[in-house]
Amino acid sequence: MAPIRTRFAPSPTGFLHLGNVRTALFAWLAARSTGGSFVLRIEDTDQGRYVPESEAAILETLQWLELTWDEGPEVGGPQGPYIQSLRLDLYAEHARRLVESGAAYWCTCAPERLTEMRLEQQRLHQPPRYDRRCLSRQDQVAAERESGMPAVLRLRMPAGTTEWDDVIHGLIRYDNADIDDQVLLKSDGFPTYHLAVVVDDHLMGISHVIRSDEWIPSTPKHLAIYAALGWEAPRFCHAPNVLDESRQKLSKRRGARTVLEYAELGYLPEALINAMALLGWSSGTEQEVFSREELIAAFSLERVQSSPAVFDAHRLDSLNGLHIRRMDGEALVAALEFHLPETSIETRRRLVPLLRERMITLRDAVALAEPLLGPAPWDPDVVFPPRKVDPETTGALLDVAVAEVEARGLDDLEAMRLRLTELLESRGVKARDGFRVLYIAILGHPSGLPVFDAMAFIGVEKSAERLRMARQELDRRRSSPPAG
Ligand code: GLU
Repeated sequence: MAPIRTRFAPSPTGFLHLGNVRTALFAWLAARSTGGSFVLRIEDTDQGRYVPESEAAILETLQWLELTWDEGPEVGGPQGPYIQSLRLDLYAEHARRLVESGAAYWCTCAPERLTEMRLEQQRLHQPPRYDRRCLSRQDQVAAERESGMPAVLRLRMPAGTTEWDDVIHGLIRYDNADIDDQVLLKSDGFPTYHLAVVVDDHLMGISHVIRSDEWIPSTPKHLAIYAALGWEAPRFCHAPNVLDESRQKLSKRRGARTVLEYAELGYLPEALINAMALLGWSSGTEQEVFSREELIAAFSLERVQSSPAVFDAHRLDSLNGLHIRRMDGEALVAALEFHLPETSIETRRRLVPLLRERMITLRDAVALAEPLLGPAPWDPDVVFPPRKVDPETTGALLDVAVAEVEARGLDDLEAMRLRLTELLESRGVKARDGFRVLYIAILGHPSGLPVFDAMAFIGVEKSAERLRMARQELDRRRSSPPAG
């Protein structure tokens, strides 16, 4: 496959969610899997929708996911600047060329007239289209502009049909009569997306435009601009939308989390990348869990489906758990620092073997490790002693456990487990039920981390102390049983 030179061109109008970044990921994978290049360009010509922090958040999101860009903000490159508001001269120059060749024309129609026209079109169930009133009076329009009247530049959509072979959708064809004369320059002189995207994709040497489906209806306009400027158009690859569980487009408004929120919740970049890759792409095999390298090796745009993909939060959870288990030990120790900021690296090294198998997200470490790092939380709602264990057995079990820990420490936990099991058996209590007593004593809760491992972690003194405290709690509850 020839190297693909592609780009991700977000507008800084909000924060990136999995739907937006999935498109960036496809572009990044297309570049990396063909030894091509990946350009990042910030499309900030719509000043009205500009959200200042979002530009920094876009960079942070891609950096956190390690979707590295070869050219773009911060890294620079030969076709810079990579921020559209810094390239206004280029758009003005190409707009001039379009006017000179007759491919674009000025329009001074007042917004009120345009609104009226649209309402009328709506009433007649016609598609919204500019009626080209100004096209036939360009001399007058020139004089009006001269006298300071605001004007926009419009593309003169040529007659005929437009078609292209979309890498993902196959042949797409439009009747140009259905396509409006797109505004290319606004009255403030700023280009619209349509002009800027074509100029930049061409000047930046983009071979494949990979973007979301919603841009399909704009593509005929872009192809008309390419043709008018005498440029060869890139290949277009319109990736399917990502829908939420209610089959609506994933959107911040409907509660989609941003990627940076997932980061804070303890999702791994590797898991998000894996989950996003499966939103519209499949390897054609049964494989579901992919490392970044495996994705690069397996990815191709041809295997991206054209129908929408549905984001499944449970699948992401299960992938996150799997990637945590696959993670290098020291990397996991480092990643947990954010969630357990008070712990030393040594403590986290001891925690990792206990927690690794039991986490869905890194954040789960907080609750799992709580009874190991602080005092065991005695939940007043925990039924103690557990229902299936009589109080005498509970008392005897705790007494034996305390005696064992005091006499022999924690060096032979297996021996302790056997002795406690024997005791339970001799009293006709199932080991599974009896050990709940120990869980509650050591962890404050009838389940959670393996209880003997937890004892080994907290050490002899704390183990003995918690077992004794549980013994006292038993006596206390027996002398004043909880109401109800
Ligand atoms: N700035 C556009 C957006 O954020 C990019 C569309 C494209 O990739 O051409 O959706």
